[in-house]
Amino acid sequence: MQSTPQNLNLRSQSDFYANPKPHTSYLKTSNLIHQTSHLIPHTPNLLPQTSHLTPHTSHLTPRTSYLIPHTSYLMKIIAIGRNYAEHAHELNNPVPTVPVIFMKPETALLKDNKPFYHPEFSADIHHEIEIVLKISKEGKHVPEKFAQNYYDEIGLGIDFTARDIQKEHKEKGLPWELAKAFDHSAPVSTFVNKDSFENLYNLNFHLDVNGQTKQSGNTNQLLFSFEYIISFVSKYITFKKGDLIFTGTPAGVGKVLVGDHLAGYLEDTKLLDFHIR
Ligand code: MG
Repeated sequence: MQSTPQNLNLRSQSDFYANPKPHTSYLKTSNLIHQTSHLIPHTPNLLPQTSHLTPHTSHLTPRTSYLIPHTSYLMKIIAIGRNYAEHAHELNNPVPTVPVIFMKPETALLKDNKPFYHPEFSADIHHEIEIVLKISKEGKHVPEKFAQNYYDEIGLGIDFTARDIQKEHKEKGLPWELAKAFDHSAPVSTFVNKDSFENLYNLNFHLDVNGQTKQSGNTNQLLFSFEYIISFVSKYITFKKGDLIFTGTPAGVGKVLVGDHLAGYLEDTKLLDFHIR
């Protein structure tokens, strides 16, 4: 029989095991290469499938990055509406029997007496001066009698409110966020250790606009105490260290204009001192 390259490649199995020569194993390898190359056409088929998955992956990426803030927690602001009866009356709201709660995000903060830039979306931004509590430790389901242990400092804040937007949303029964939670809607002062005050429920505070007192209150007029608020809110929302509570505004709220100078006093100490730009 004439020997051809094909014949050489088709050596019998018995011959292969009897003579395991290098060239034999070479032939076997080349066979494998041949088999592998058969699989290659399948790969291009898989590639389009993989690229089809890509949009899903990119969709997951924002979620993953969203998880990161859990390790470096951003604070939140809890605010109480209508916590002084006279203020509830001046806006024709009923005096509440349970606290009215809303929130502002961390991006609402404005610190260091920096100017407040009047937003264009509202023609009726109101000042609301409020006593602000700083939460000192994590708390959920805090009993009222222990709530005093969950805040260590107090300060002043302005709960800037787009009253025109709020009015419109209230009439439609919609949430207030656009009127309350916008950027820099929560200027806050430096904070003072609460132990430096003899009685937290006899604190005078007031707001001067361009040197004229527009709002003044005393914490003895609060409808819901600081401790009640912490206990009530913590049934629903866990407090974390660094969260702030805006405890409500006394009567005298009003519109701010570009150029106004706001000065907020806690007792006789001026803590807020900034301009509307
Ligand atoms: Mg308020």
